[in-house]
Amino acid sequence: MSLRDDARELQGELAVLRRALHREPEIGLQLPRTQEKVLAALDGLPLEISTGSSLSSVTAVLRGGAPEARPGPVVLLRGDMDALPVTERTGAEFTSRIDGAMHACGHDLHTAGLVGAARLLADRRESLAGDVVFMFQPGEEGWDGAGHMVEEGVLQAAGRPVDAAYGLHVSSSSYPTGVFASRPGPLMAASAGLHVRVVGAGGHGSRPHAALDPIQAACEMVTALQTMVTRRFDVFDPVVVTVGVFHAGTRRNVIPDDASFEATVRTFSATAAERAAEVAVRLCQDIATAHGLTAEVDFVPEYPVTVNDTAEHDFLASTVREAFGEERFEPLADPITGSEDFSRVLDRVPGAFVFLGADATGDPETAPSNHSPLAAFDDGVLSDAAALLAELAVRRLDSLDRLAKEVPCAPTT
Ligand SMILES: [Zn+2]
Repeated sequence: MSLRDDARELQGELAVLRRALHREPEIGLQLPRTQEKVLAALDGLPLEISTGSSLSSVTAVLRGGAPEARPGPVVLLRGDMDALPVTERTGAEFTSRIDGAMHACGHDLHTAGLVGAARLLADRRESLAGDVVFMFQPGEEGWDGAGHMVEEGVLQAAGRPVDAAYGLHVSSSSYPTGVFASRPGPLMAASAGLHVRVVGAGGHGSRPHAALDPIQAACEMVTALQTMVTRRFDVFDPVVVTVGVFHAGTRRNVIPDDASFEATVRTFSATAAERAAEVAVRLCQDIATAHGLTAEVDFVPEYPVTVNDTAEHDFLASTVREAFGEERFEPLADPITGSEDFSRVLDRVPGAFVFLGADATGDPETAPSNHSPLAAFDDGVLSDAAALLAELAVRRLDSLDRLAKEVPCAPTT
Protein backbone atom coordinates (compact mmCIF):
# COMPACT_ATOMS: atom_id res chain seq x y z
CA MET A 1 0.00 0.00 0.00
CA SER A 2 1.17 3.51 -0.72
CA LEU A 3 1.71 6.05 2.03
CA ARG A 4 -1.35 7.87 0.74
CA ASP A 5 -3.52 4.76 1.11
CA ASP A 6 -2.22 4.14 4.61
CA ALA A 7 -2.81 7.78 5.47
CA ARG A 8 -6.44 7.55 4.37
CA GLU A 9 -6.98 4.90 7.01
CA LEU A 10 -5.70 7.34 9.65
CA GLN A 11 -7.97 10.18 8.48
CA GLY A 12 -10.71 9.51 11.04
CA GLU A 13 -8.46 9.50 14.08
CA LEU A 14 -6.42 12.48 12.87
CA ALA A 15 -9.66 14.48 12.55
CA VAL A 16 -10.63 13.45 16.08
CA LEU A 17 -7.25 14.65 17.38
CA ARG A 18 -7.50 17.91 15.42
CA ARG A 19 -10.94 18.64 16.80
CA ALA A 20 -9.82 17.91 20.37
CA LEU A 21 -6.95 20.39 19.85
CA HIS A 22 -9.36 22.87 18.31
CA ARG A 23 -11.68 22.76 21.32
CA GLU A 24 -8.84 23.63 23.70
CA PRO A 25 -6.59 26.17 21.97
CA GLU A 26 -3.58 27.54 23.83
CA ILE A 27 -1.53 30.64 23.04
CA GLY A 28 2.21 31.33 23.21
CA LEU A 29 5.16 29.24 24.30
CA GLN A 30 3.45 27.26 27.07
CA LEU A 31 0.81 24.87 25.74
CA PRO A 32 0.54 22.21 28.46
CA ARG A 33 -2.81 20.71 27.39
CA THR A 34 -1.72 20.58 23.77
CA GLN A 35 1.58 18.96 24.72
CA GLU A 36 -0.35 16.39 26.75
CA LYS A 37 -2.52 15.49 23.76
CA VAL A 38 0.51 15.18 21.46
CA LEU A 39 2.36 12.94 23.92
CA ALA A 40 -0.75 10.76 24.27
CA ALA A 41 -1.11 10.52 20.49
CA LEU A 42 2.55 9.45 20.10
CA ASP A 43 2.39 6.99 22.97
CA GLY A 44 3.39 3.47 21.97
CA LEU A 45 5.30 4.52 18.84
CA PRO A 46 9.02 3.63 18.67
CA LEU A 47 10.16 7.22 19.23
CA GLU A 48 12.78 8.90 21.41
CA ILE A 49 10.79 11.74 22.92
CA SER A 50 12.01 14.84 24.73
CA THR A 51 10.19 17.97 25.81
CA GLY A 52 11.40 21.56 25.88
CA SER A 53 12.56 23.41 28.97
CA SER A 54 11.81 27.04 28.05
CA LEU A 55 8.66 26.08 26.10
CA SER A 56 6.25 23.14 25.94
CA SER A 57 7.70 21.67 22.76
CA VAL A 58 7.84 17.98 21.86
CA THR A 59 10.78 16.58 19.91
CA ALA A 60 10.49 12.97 18.75
CA VAL A 61 13.21 11.02 16.96
CA LEU A 62 12.46 7.95 14.86
CA ARG A 63 15.52 5.78 14.19
CA GLY A 64 15.47 4.27 10.72
CA GLY A 65 15.98 0.55 10.81
CA ALA A 66 17.66 -0.21 7.49
CA PRO A 67 20.87 -1.78 8.81
CA GLU A 68 23.06 -0.51 6.01
CA ALA A 69 21.77 3.01 6.68
CA ARG A 70 23.59 3.65 9.97
CA PRO A 71 24.42 6.38 10.67
CA GLY A 72 22.21 7.58 7.83
CA PRO A 73 20.94 11.03 6.98
CA VAL A 74 18.47 13.00 9.12
CA VAL A 75 15.27 14.69 7.96
CA LEU A 76 13.24 17.08 10.13
CA LEU A 77 9.47 17.54 9.83
CA ARG A 78 7.80 20.40 11.65
CA GLY A 79 4.30 21.21 12.88
CA ASP A 80 3.45 24.29 14.94
CA MET A 81 0.83 23.96 17.70
CA ASP A 82 -0.21 27.37 19.02
CA ALA A 83 -3.47 29.29 18.67
CA LEU A 84 -4.36 33.00 18.45
CA PRO A 85 -6.05 35.50 20.76
CA VAL A 86 -9.20 35.49 18.63
CA THR A 87 -12.78 34.74 19.70
CA GLU A 88 -14.14 32.04 17.41
CA ARG A 89 -17.32 32.76 15.44
CA THR A 90 -17.40 29.78 13.05
CA GLY A 91 -20.21 28.03 14.89
CA ALA A 92 -18.43 24.71 14.31
CA GLU A 93 -19.61 21.76 16.35
CA PHE A 94 -16.06 21.47 17.79
CA THR A 95 -15.76 25.24 18.37
CA SER A 96 -13.21 26.62 20.87
CA ARG A 97 -14.24 26.27 24.48
CA ILE A 98 -11.61 28.76 25.61
CA ASP A 99 -12.72 32.38 25.73
CA GLY A 100 -10.57 34.61 23.55
CA ALA A 101 -8.49 31.80 22.04
CA MET A 102 -8.95 30.08 18.70
CA HIS A 103 -7.01 27.91 16.28
CA ALA A 104 -7.62 30.56 13.64
CA CYS A 105 -4.41 29.79 11.72
CA GLY A 106 -4.93 26.03 11.43
CA HIS A 107 -1.99 24.99 13.59
CA ASP A 108 -4.29 22.31 15.08
CA LEU A 109 -4.20 20.69 11.62
CA HIS A 110 -0.40 20.97 11.48
CA THR A 111 -0.10 19.19 14.83
CA ALA A 112 -2.50 16.39 13.86
CA GLY A 113 -0.85 16.07 10.42
CA LEU A 114 2.57 15.67 11.98
CA VAL A 115 1.25 13.00 14.35
CA GLY A 116 -0.08 11.24 11.25
CA ALA A 117 3.34 11.43 9.58
CA ALA A 118 4.94 9.96 12.71
CA ARG A 119 2.45 7.08 12.63
CA LEU A 120 3.05 6.40 8.93
CA LEU A 121 6.83 6.51 9.25
CA ALA A 122 6.92 4.42 12.44
CA ASP A 123 5.12 1.69 10.48
CA ARG A 124 7.94 1.81 7.91
CA ARG A 125 10.76 2.22 10.37
CA GLU A 126 12.59 -0.93 9.29
CA SER A 127 13.05 0.31 5.74
CA LEU A 128 13.90 3.96 6.50
CA ALA A 129 17.35 4.93 5.26
CA GLY A 130 17.97 7.33 8.14
CA ASP A 131 16.37 9.11 11.09
CA VAL A 132 13.41 11.48 11.26
CA VAL A 133 13.04 14.32 13.78
CA PHE A 134 9.47 15.43 14.47
CA MET A 135 9.38 19.03 15.69
CA PHE A 136 6.15 19.90 17.54
CA GLN A 137 6.53 23.62 18.10
CA PRO A 138 4.71 26.12 20.33
CA GLY A 139 4.74 29.88 19.89
CA GLU A 140 4.82 30.46 16.13
CA GLU A 141 2.48 33.47 16.30
CA GLY A 142 5.09 36.05 17.27
CA TRP A 143 6.86 34.16 20.09
CA ASP A 144 9.71 32.74 18.03
CA GLY A 145 9.04 29.20 19.23
CA ALA A 146 11.18 27.83 16.39
CA GLY A 147 14.10 30.00 17.50
CA HIS A 148 13.73 28.67 21.05
CA MET A 149 13.66 25.06 19.80
CA VAL A 150 16.74 25.66 17.66
CA GLU A 151 18.51 27.06 20.74
CA GLU A 152 17.45 24.01 22.74
CA GLY A 153 19.01 21.74 20.11
CA VAL A 154 16.18 20.43 17.91
CA LEU A 155 18.56 20.43 14.91
CA GLN A 156 20.88 18.02 16.77
CA ALA A 157 18.10 15.89 18.32
CA ALA A 158 19.15 12.81 16.35
CA GLY A 159 22.77 13.14 17.50
CA ARG A 160 23.81 14.32 14.03
CA PRO A 161 22.90 17.50 12.17
CA VAL A 162 19.66 17.61 10.24
CA ASP A 163 20.22 17.32 6.46
CA ALA A 164 16.85 18.58 5.22
CA ALA A 165 13.73 20.10 6.77
CA TYR A 166 10.11 20.43 5.66
CA GLY A 167 6.97 22.06 6.97
CA LEU A 168 3.51 22.88 5.69
CA HIS A 169 0.85 25.48 6.40
CA VAL A 170 -2.86 25.12 5.76
CA SER A 171 -4.85 27.99 4.32
CA SER A 172 -8.58 28.55 4.84
CA SER A 173 -8.71 30.70 1.68
CA SER A 174 -6.73 31.47 -1.50
CA TYR A 175 -6.10 27.90 -2.71
CA PRO A 176 -8.58 25.17 -3.65
CA THR A 177 -8.89 22.48 -1.01
CA GLY A 178 -6.18 19.85 -1.34
CA VAL A 179 -3.90 21.95 -3.58
CA PHE A 180 -0.28 22.34 -2.46
CA ALA A 181 1.37 25.65 -3.39
CA SER A 182 4.93 26.90 -3.10
CA ARG A 183 7.83 28.55 -4.92
CA PRO A 184 11.62 28.39 -4.92
CA GLY A 185 13.57 31.12 -3.10
CA PRO A 186 11.82 33.66 -0.89
CA LEU A 187 8.37 32.32 0.06
CA MET A 188 7.42 34.53 3.00
CA ALA A 189 8.53 37.95 4.21
CA ALA A 190 10.85 38.93 7.00
CA SER A 191 9.08 40.97 9.64
CA ALA A 192 10.31 43.68 11.96
CA GLY A 193 8.65 46.13 14.34
CA LEU A 194 9.31 49.86 14.21
CA HIS A 195 8.53 51.51 17.57
CA VAL A 196 8.65 55.30 17.69
CA ARG A 197 8.07 57.78 20.52
CA VAL A 198 8.23 61.42 19.49
CA VAL A 199 9.02 63.69 22.42
CA GLY A 200 8.07 67.37 22.22
CA ALA A 201 6.73 69.82 24.75
CA GLY A 202 3.06 70.14 25.57
CA GLY A 203 1.11 73.37 25.64
CA HIS A 204 -2.11 75.14 24.73
CA GLY A 205 -3.62 74.21 21.39
CA SER A 206 -4.12 77.87 20.55
CA ARG A 207 -0.41 78.68 20.99
CA PRO A 208 1.53 75.97 19.11
CA HIS A 209 4.52 78.31 18.65
CA ALA A 210 5.07 78.15 22.41
CA ALA A 211 5.03 74.32 22.44
CA LEU A 212 6.74 71.53 20.48
CA ASP A 213 3.96 69.58 18.80
CA PRO A 214 4.79 65.86 18.62
CA ILE A 215 1.60 64.93 16.73
CA GLN A 216 2.45 66.99 13.67
CA ALA A 217 5.96 65.49 13.51
CA ALA A 218 4.71 61.93 14.08
CA CYS A 219 2.15 62.34 11.27
CA GLU A 220 4.91 63.53 8.98
CA MET A 221 6.92 60.40 9.86
CA VAL A 222 3.96 58.15 9.05
CA THR A 223 3.60 59.58 5.55
CA ALA A 224 7.37 59.86 5.01
CA LEU A 225 7.71 56.12 5.72
CA GLN A 226 5.55 55.41 2.64
CA THR A 227 7.66 57.79 0.56
CA MET A 228 10.73 55.98 1.90
CA VAL A 229 9.35 52.69 0.54
CA THR A 230 9.09 54.05 -3.00
CA ARG A 231 12.21 56.29 -3.05
CA ARG A 232 14.79 54.33 -1.08
CA PHE A 233 14.08 50.72 -2.07
CA ASP A 234 14.32 48.78 -5.29
CA VAL A 235 10.84 48.22 -6.69
CA PHE A 236 11.89 44.64 -7.52
CA ASP A 237 12.85 43.95 -3.90
CA PRO A 238 9.60 44.99 -2.26
CA VAL A 239 9.05 46.50 1.17
CA VAL A 240 5.73 46.84 3.01
CA VAL A 241 5.32 49.30 5.90
CA THR A 242 2.04 49.53 7.80
CA VAL A 243 1.49 51.73 10.83
CA GLY A 244 -0.96 49.77 12.95
CA VAL A 245 -0.74 51.73 16.22
CA PHE A 246 -0.84 55.51 16.75
CA HIS A 247 -1.42 57.10 20.15
CA ALA A 248 -1.33 60.75 21.12
CA GLY A 249 -3.22 63.36 23.02
CA THR A 250 -6.14 63.64 25.39
CA ARG A 251 -8.12 66.69 24.27
CA ARG A 252 -8.45 68.74 21.10
CA ASN A 253 -7.09 71.96 22.57
CA VAL A 254 -4.11 70.43 24.34
CA ILE A 255 -0.77 69.76 22.66
CA PRO A 256 0.57 66.63 24.34
CA ASP A 257 4.15 66.07 25.45
CA ASP A 258 4.62 63.03 23.26
CA ALA A 259 3.13 60.86 20.53
CA SER A 260 3.95 57.27 19.70
CA PHE A 261 3.31 54.84 16.88
CA GLU A 262 4.27 51.33 15.79
CA ALA A 263 4.67 49.88 12.34
CA THR A 264 5.27 46.44 10.91
CA VAL A 265 7.97 46.30 8.24
CA ARG A 266 8.04 43.39 5.75
CA THR A 267 10.97 42.67 3.46
CA PHE A 268 12.04 39.81 1.17
CA SER A 269 15.83 39.97 1.22
CA ALA A 270 18.53 40.43 3.82
CA THR A 271 19.66 43.54 1.91
CA ALA A 272 16.24 45.20 2.17
CA ALA A 273 15.87 44.17 5.83
CA GLU A 274 19.22 45.74 6.76
CA ARG A 275 18.49 48.85 4.76
CA ALA A 276 15.06 49.28 6.36
CA ALA A 277 16.62 49.06 9.81
CA GLU A 278 18.97 51.90 8.96
CA VAL A 279 16.83 54.16 6.77
CA ALA A 280 13.56 54.04 8.74
CA VAL A 281 15.29 54.86 12.01
CA ARG A 282 17.23 57.78 10.54
CA LEU A 283 14.14 59.12 8.78
CA CYS A 284 12.16 59.33 12.03
CA GLN A 285 15.02 60.80 14.02
CA ASP A 286 15.82 63.41 11.37
CA ILE A 287 12.20 64.51 11.00
CA ALA A 288 12.05 64.99 14.77
CA THR A 289 15.27 67.01 14.70
CA ALA A 290 14.03 69.15 11.83
CA HIS A 291 11.12 70.29 14.01
CA GLY A 292 13.17 70.72 17.18
CA LEU A 293 11.88 67.54 18.81
CA THR A 294 13.52 64.24 19.67
CA ALA A 295 12.48 60.71 18.75
CA GLU A 296 13.17 57.43 20.52
CA VAL A 297 13.21 54.86 17.73
CA ASP A 298 13.54 51.09 18.06
CA PHE A 299 13.73 48.80 15.07
CA VAL A 300 13.18 45.25 16.29
CA PRO A 301 13.82 42.41 13.82
CA GLU A 302 11.30 39.58 14.35
CA TYR A 303 11.40 36.73 11.81
CA PRO A 304 13.83 36.46 8.86
CA VAL A 305 12.70 35.76 5.27
CA THR A 306 11.42 32.21 4.79
CA VAL A 307 13.56 30.95 1.92
CA ASN A 308 12.96 27.68 0.11
CA ASP A 309 16.15 26.07 -1.10
CA THR A 310 15.67 25.76 -4.87
CA ALA A 311 16.62 22.07 -5.11
CA GLU A 312 14.49 21.20 -2.06
CA HIS A 313 11.54 23.12 -3.49
CA ASP A 314 11.87 21.25 -6.80
CA PHE A 315 12.05 17.95 -4.92
CA LEU A 316 8.93 18.88 -2.94
CA ALA A 317 7.02 19.91 -6.09
CA SER A 318 7.92 16.68 -7.90
CA THR A 319 6.99 14.64 -4.82
CA VAL A 320 3.52 16.26 -4.74
CA ARG A 321 3.05 15.67 -8.46
CA GLU A 322 4.15 12.04 -8.32
CA ALA A 323 2.33 11.09 -5.14
CA PHE A 324 -0.87 13.12 -5.60
CA GLY A 325 -1.12 14.10 -9.29
CA GLU A 326 0.02 16.93 -11.53
CA GLU A 327 -3.00 19.12 -10.75
CA ARG A 328 -2.32 19.08 -7.02
CA PHE A 329 0.70 21.40 -7.18
CA GLU A 330 0.32 25.11 -7.84
CA PRO A 331 3.53 27.08 -8.47
CA LEU A 332 3.31 30.49 -6.78
CA ALA A 333 4.48 33.45 -8.85
CA ASP A 334 5.10 35.69 -5.84
CA PRO A 335 6.04 35.29 -2.19
CA ILE A 336 3.41 36.14 0.41
CA THR A 337 3.82 39.03 2.84
CA GLY A 338 3.08 37.00 5.97
CA SER A 339 6.01 35.75 8.07
CA GLU A 340 6.94 32.38 9.58
CA ASP A 341 9.41 31.31 12.22
CA PHE A 342 10.15 28.10 10.28
CA SER A 343 12.54 30.59 8.65
CA ARG A 344 14.79 29.96 11.69
CA VAL A 345 15.15 26.34 10.56
CA LEU A 346 15.45 27.11 6.83
CA ASP A 347 18.18 29.66 7.68
CA ARG A 348 20.31 26.77 8.94
CA VAL A 349 19.18 23.71 7.00
CA PRO A 350 18.18 23.34 3.33
CA GLY A 351 14.50 22.58 3.07
CA ALA A 352 11.13 23.76 1.87
CA PHE A 353 7.81 25.02 3.16
CA VAL A 354 4.51 24.49 1.36
CA PHE A 355 0.94 25.79 1.67
CA LEU A 356 -2.02 23.43 1.58
CA GLY A 357 -5.50 24.64 0.62
CA ALA A 358 -8.04 23.67 3.29
CA ASP A 359 -11.00 25.91 2.46
CA ALA A 360 -14.14 24.62 4.15
CA THR A 361 -16.63 26.89 2.34
CA GLY A 362 -16.33 25.71 -1.26
CA ASP A 363 -15.08 29.10 -2.50
CA PRO A 364 -11.48 29.89 -1.54
CA GLU A 365 -11.71 33.31 -3.24
CA THR A 366 -14.27 34.60 -0.76
CA ALA A 367 -13.60 32.34 2.27
CA PRO A 368 -12.50 34.08 5.51
CA SER A 369 -8.72 34.00 5.65
CA ASN A 370 -6.40 32.59 8.32
CA HIS A 371 -6.54 34.65 11.56
CA SER A 372 -10.21 35.59 10.98
CA PRO A 373 -12.69 34.59 13.75
CA LEU A 374 -14.63 32.96 10.90
CA ALA A 375 -11.67 31.02 9.42
CA ALA A 376 -12.84 27.45 8.83
CA PHE A 377 -10.45 24.68 7.81
CA ASP A 378 -11.49 21.45 6.10
CA ASP A 379 -9.76 18.72 8.12
CA GLY A 380 -10.43 16.26 5.28
CA VAL A 381 -6.94 17.33 4.10
CA LEU A 382 -5.25 15.81 7.15
CA SER A 383 -4.45 12.45 5.60
CA ASP A 384 -2.82 14.17 2.62
CA ALA A 385 -0.86 16.51 4.91
CA ALA A 386 0.45 13.48 6.82
CA ALA A 387 1.14 11.53 3.64
CA LEU A 388 3.11 14.38 2.04
CA LEU A 389 5.31 14.91 5.10
CA ALA A 390 5.98 11.17 5.34
CA GLU A 391 6.60 10.91 1.61
CA LEU A 392 9.14 13.76 1.74
CA ALA A 393 11.00 12.07 4.59
CA VAL A 394 11.12 8.64 2.94
CA ARG A 395 12.24 9.96 -0.43
CA ARG A 396 14.77 12.43 0.90
CA LEU A 397 16.36 9.89 3.24
CA ASP A 398 16.66 7.48 0.30
CA SER A 399 18.23 10.04 -2.01
CA LEU A 400 20.62 11.38 0.65
CA ASP A 401 21.63 7.86 1.51
CA ARG A 402 22.27 6.99 -2.16
CA LEU A 403 24.28 10.17 -2.55
CA ALA A 404 26.42 9.36 0.49
CA LYS A 405 27.19 5.91 -0.92
CA GLU A 406 28.20 7.33 -4.29
CA VAL A 407 30.87 9.55 -2.74
CA PRO A 408 34.03 7.49 -2.58
CA CYS A 409 35.64 7.34 0.85
CA ALA A 410 38.74 9.46 1.25
CA PRO A 411 41.83 7.25 1.27
CA THR A 412 43.28 6.75 4.72
CA THR A 413 46.96 6.47 5.32
ZN1 LIG B 1 0.11 30.10 11.05
